[in-house]
Amino acid sequence: MSTITIKSPREIELMRVSGKITAAARSIGREMVTPGVTTQEIDKEIYKFIKRSGAEPSFLGYGGFPGSACISVNDEVIHGIPGKRLIREGDIVSIDVGAFIGGFHGDCCGTFAAGKISEEARRLIEVTRQSFFEGLKFAREGYRVSDISHAIQDYVESFGYTLVREYVGHGIGKNLHEAPEVPNFGEPGHGPRLVRGMTLAIEPMVNMGGAAVRVLDNDWTVVTADGSLSAHYENTVLITDGEPEILTMAEDL
Ligand code: MG
Repeated sequence: MSTITIKSPREIELMRVSGKITAAARSIGREMVTPGVTTQEIDKEIYKFIKRSGAEPSFLGYGGFPGSACISVNDEVIHGIPGKRLIREGDIVSIDVGAFIGGFHGDCCGTFAAGKISEEARRLIEVTRQSFFEGLKFAREGYRVSDISHAIQDYVESFGYTLVREYVGHGIGKNLHEAPEVPNFGEPGHGPRLVRGMTLAIEPMVNMGGAAVRVLDNDWTVVTADGSLSAHYENTVLITDGEPEILTMAEDL
């Protein structure tokens, strides 16, 4: 990856716009996660919303990806391809979306329950979400990237869950993926120092079982090697001179 880009106040304003649309697209996905709906139907509504907002779906065509959202069910970690798969009662469904407008991307994700889910699955979702906020505590000037990573790992592993290592968070801006990489594991005190104007997609991917993953024959979808459930939570975050600002903020965050 290239050098870390520091966003100007004007660029930050543009990223607030793309972030808001991205967050709203995630909310649409969240509302649609119910038994009986196909992942394709969810993707279609997300596509329509992003286009209606004057933006472009960041993921559509990215490396040839065929959807506007990555929709990953149960043991699917990331990069689930929207299709005819019917969501069933008890499934957990990750909706990962990106929107590009004004020259900048937003990127966010959440894992949501289809109908009534098991207590174990609910806990996995909640711990994954909270781990993002544990990492966020270190998304401030003066800390280093791996301080975020370590806080996420520490929290997640205290529940006996594991973190995916092959895929990591990232800088974001004019490009969907920029420097630096933001791993969800590691010792504190390493990596680039955080400074105001940096924008990071922080995205813990948490497995209920082992950390190992594999890629399906479609060359996209990453699943847990042991078939255990996986959850994902992500927001685009701006480093400021004080509290970090979540650019993909939404009421149902
Ligand atoms: Mg991302």
